[in-house]
This record gives sequence, C-alpha cells and structure tokens, in this order.
Amino acid sequence: MTACGHISKVMLTGLAAIITMSPVLLSADRAGESGKAKIMPPPVGNVQVEDAFWAPRLKVYREKTIPHSWNYMGWEIRALKAANGLKVDGDLNNTWGEANLYKFMETCAYSLAMHPDEQLEKRIDEIIELLSGAQQPDGYLHAYVTNAGKTPWDPAFLDGSHDGYVLGHMIEAALEYDAATGKKTFLAIAQKAADQAYEHFLGPNGVPGFCGHAELEMALVELYRAVPNKRYLDLSRAFVEWRGRGKVKPFSETPRAYFQDEVPLRRQTALDGHAVRAVFFAAGVADIALETGDCDYRLAANRFWDSVTLRRMYITGSAGAREEHEAFGEDYELPNDGYCESCAACGMLDFAQRMFMLERTSQPIDVLERTLYNAVLHGISLDGTTTYYRNPLSDRDRPRDNCWVCCPPNLSRTLFQVGRYAYAFTNEDIYVNLFVGGSCTIPWKKDPVSLHVSTDYPWNGDIEIRVAAEAPRQFALHLRIPEWCRDAGIMLNGRQMTPLPLTDAGYVRIERPWKNHDTVKLTLPMPVMKMQAHPAVQSCAGKIALQRGPLVYGFEGIDNEGIDLHLAANSRFDTEHRPDMLGGVTVLRTRSKDGRDLTAIPFYALANRQNSTQEVWVRQEGARPDTRWWLAKLYRPIE
Ligand SMILES: [Zn+2]
Repeated sequence: MTACGHISKVMLTGLAAIITMSPVLLSADRAGESGKAKIMPPPVGNVQVEDAFWAPRLKVYREKTIPHSWNYMGWEIRALKAANGLKVDGDLNNTWGEANLYKFMETCAYSLAMHPDEQLEKRIDEIIELLSGAQQPDGYLHAYVTNAGKTPWDPAFLDGSHDGYVLGHMIEAALEYDAATGKKTFLAIAQKAADQAYEHFLGPNGVPGFCGHAELEMALVELYRAVPNKRYLDLSRAFVEWRGRGKVKPFSETPRAYFQDEVPLRRQTALDGHAVRAVFFAAGVADIALETGDCDYRLAANRFWDSVTLRRMYITGSAGAREEHEAFGEDYELPNDGYCESCAACGMLDFAQRMFMLERTSQPIDVLERTLYNAVLHGISLDGTTTYYRNPLSDRDRPRDNCWVCCPPNLSRTLFQVGRYAYAFTNEDIYVNLFVGGSCTIPWKKDPVSLHVSTDYPWNGDIEIRVAAEAPRQFALHLRIPEWCRDAGIMLNGRQMTPLPLTDAGYVRIERPWKNHDTVKLTLPMPVMKMQAHPAVQSCAGKIALQRGPLVYGFEGIDNEGIDLHLAANSRFDTEHRPDMLGGVTVLRTRSKDGRDLTAIPFYALANRQNSTQEVWVRQEGARPDTRWWLAKLYRPIE
C-alpha cells in the first residue's frame, strides 16, 4: 500500500488546505498523486458468461426482464415527448422518474454489449433522439423540471429535485451505451449536461450546493475516466466538500444526515442517513480517493466501509435497517424485519468494488459476493419479472411487485454487470474475484490474455482456470480465497502448490511467465456453516443462520409448514442438489427440536413458488451468545 508515504504529506498539506482553499483548489493541488498502476474492471463485453448459474439468469434478464420493464417506461417517454414540445396524453413522471429510464437504458447497454440486438438498439436510439430534443440550449436536461416549469438546480429544492441523481444515471447509461455500440450521440448529450452542471456550480457565477441524492459524484468520476477532462473530477469533489456546511436546505422534516450533510467529510465517522444515498455517496468518495490519491478521502471511505460492514450490515449483505427515512440504524441495530432496500444492496456492490480497487484486498469482494448472491439476487424473481423493494430476513407472506421503478431497474443494471465484478486488472496483474464460468479477455494492448473458467459455483467450489495467450506473458494472477473457505487447495499445471501462496491481501498470488494452456485448479471446500452474529446484535441472540459457500440459506413456510423453527441442539445438515427445483438449487435438510424434518433453500430463491413466510435466523436449542474475541467480524461460523 502507498498509504503511509502519502498520509503524512497529504494530511499535513490537507489540513492547511481545508481551512483556506476552495474544493477546486484542493483538487488541483493534489491531482495526479495517485501514482499506482491503474486498476480497473474489464468492459462488460469482454466477459462471456457461460456457466449453469449465471448464463440462464442473464438470458432471462435479456428475454423477459428487459421487455417487461419497457412496459413501465411510458411516463418517462411521455415526459421526454412533452419536453420536445409534442402533445401527449397521460401522466408525466415525478422528480426522480427519469432515473428509471436511464437505469433501463444502462441495462440494455450491458445486454447489447454481450448480445447484439438490432431491435433493442433501435429502441434506445429513438429514446436518445428524444433526449437530444429535450436538452436545453445550455445543456440542462431533466424533462420533469422543464415540463413543470421549475428552476433547474433550484437552490431551494436541491435535496428534493433529484437533478443530480438523474444526471448521474444518465451519465452512467451514456458511458455504457458508448462502450457497447461505439455510438457517441448519447455520451455527447450526457457530457453537455455535465458541462452545464459544472458551469452552474463551479463556473464564474457558480453557486455552491449539491444534489441531496448522491449518485452524480461517482458518475462524474466515471465520466472523468472516459473523457479525461478534470472539470468532472473537480465537480464531483466539490459536491463532497460542500456537504456538512449548511449549503442545502432539507426539503421536508428530514434530518441533515438523511442526505449526508450533517458534518463535513473529515469529521464523518460512520455512514448514516438514507442508506441508498449514503452508499452511493461513499462509493463516490472512494472513487475520488482512487483518482486523486487523497488520503483524507481514502480514510473517510475506510471509516464508512468499516461502519457498514462491521456494524450495520445484514448477513445477506443488505444495508439500511430502518423504514423511517429508509435509513441506517445505530450500530448493531439489525432487526430481522428491517427495511433492506434493494437499491442499497446494489449500491453496496458499487461501494465494495471501489473499496477493492482502493485497497486491493479481498475483504470488499467478500462483501460484494455476499451481497450479490444473497440480497441482490433475492430482490428479483427467478422469472425476472417481479421484484422486492425490501428484502428483510424475516418476512410474512408478502408478494413481490411487478412495477418497475426505483429498485427493479437498479437490480437489472447491477446483475448484468456480474462479469465486471468477477475480474480486475492492472498492467501486471489479473484478479479473479468471483468464480463465474465462461471467459474473460483482458484488454491489454500488447499480448492480450484470456482466462477460461469452468465451474459449478456456487454449488461446489472446484474451479478450473485455463490461460489463453498467443505469446507468453509475465503477470501475477491473483485468485481470491473467500473468507468462508478453510483449507483451500491449488494446483498449477497438475502440481499441488504447498504451502498455498496466500498473501496478506487474501489472494493466492502466482506470478510467472504465463503461457497458452497453463491451467490452475482451485478447490474451495464448502461445508454447511452455522453462522452466529456479533453478541451486540440483539435480534440474532440465541439464533443461528446457515451458510454454504457464498449462499446464506432461509426457511420458507411452503417447505416447513406449521413447523416451529427451533433446531435441535448440535443439529446436523445433509445437502442435496435438486436440479428440478427453483432452477436447480442445493437444499439443506435438518431436524427440528421435536424431531421433524426441516428444509432450507438459498435466501435468493425464497418467494418464488407461492407467497410464504421467510426466515433466516432460527433458534437452536442451547445456542448462547458467544462473547469471546470478536475483532473485525460481524458474523462468523460457530466452531
Ligand atoms: Zn430503490
């Protein structure tokens, strides 16, 4: 890590700078200090997903989810038409509605990157034409505001107008559409809108402020990466610096923490307030740390990360316990019927991936994997057309919803990125973070390398990785050893590697001149684990949860009708793979205290047969809070 060398220098100059300089000057002062080889995920189109777990899902999202969600874009299209001066019948959208359309367009961009589709591309091009017509001469583009005759970036309504949130999703969709199709119109529209935002906030007559719903911060950094104009990085940073200084009025009774405005960044110790806004904000802070090398930002991102993952996260990776203000609770306040918004889980993946890129350790990816395979996948039904806005760990027979606003399009745009979450690379390294069957081409300009992965993950932990390279190439292959795995094994070209070349960062690291057909076999044993929560989590006292590999399990009423979920002391579990059930799942079987059969299925697969009760944490006869040594863990297996 380069942190130590940086901290002393940057913190000293930083402290002086906070007092005297504007955010822009701060940024100008420190830009380019990063110094590390760039790390990045591959483009979505470089990853072919071909395994039995993810490939059928992506097919469902492509064939069912995209057409279904299009049915819910009517009000957004009408709003764009109205902003083009066309006559329309029917309701127009609300303040945050256009973000739904951009999330839909981003979803389509990923699908097109993997699977060209002329019809779909034509549909997106038609929307882009409407966007072009709705854009104001100065670049501002938010049809809701234009149609309602409201003030762009209204200083009296910055917390409620969602101007920045909508623009952030527009930028992300435009970047992905450019990457997928090479067409530049959408990106030009988004860039013009970002330039308007820059002029509004940081131009000669700039007005300090920020959108109350974070999102634009990370989108601007992504735009800066693609179109290296430093103004986007400066604006992102200004939005962070202006927080906690009373620049934005709360639009209702909400506390300032709701929109991360209670205290300035350097005094903010934990992630608070509206969980979705908070994790998006934190992801933006991590992004700025990555691009500037600023230690204040890096330290803040780490404080935020620790506050969530060590004290405020569910075992499924969900975040945001409270329904009131859709907010984080206090430390260890994790009621099993808590709020757990799908969007917060999606945001956790954004945040986790950036924390990995910042620290290059496996722990953020452990959280990413936990959240992806549990909270995020639970949000969407197996048939891809109904969703949960909330994903509590204990639920009555609450039906899924087929409406497609807010969380649903966020789930689809997130799930299409599974290939991007699976890998990362620098000029000298390839990281294999998730185990997804198929292939990935690392887009090195000279001597590109592909990895071909065969696996039945997450049902078993045997993973074979074969290198394809035209010429031998020296690089370090980093394979993540998940936190849940003990006794991992690895073979290189048929020979066992002992001891395991495990680094402090949580990876097996093999550096050598790799050549065509070199093969690594990774074995990750997956016993059923009885998990316990930190003793301060009152809702889990005397209870256990089941986990196997990355999957957290749950009990559903339909399999355990009328049975009191009270496990026998020292209960044992049998596993059985059921290809015929729920798209193919490994189920766990055990016995209740009074000797009846119980069945648990993966948490993500709950609520896919009929409306039924769902339960993750269950009582076990004799289970007691374990108060020994709980350093840096919120959940751990019972030994
Ligand atoms: Zn949502």
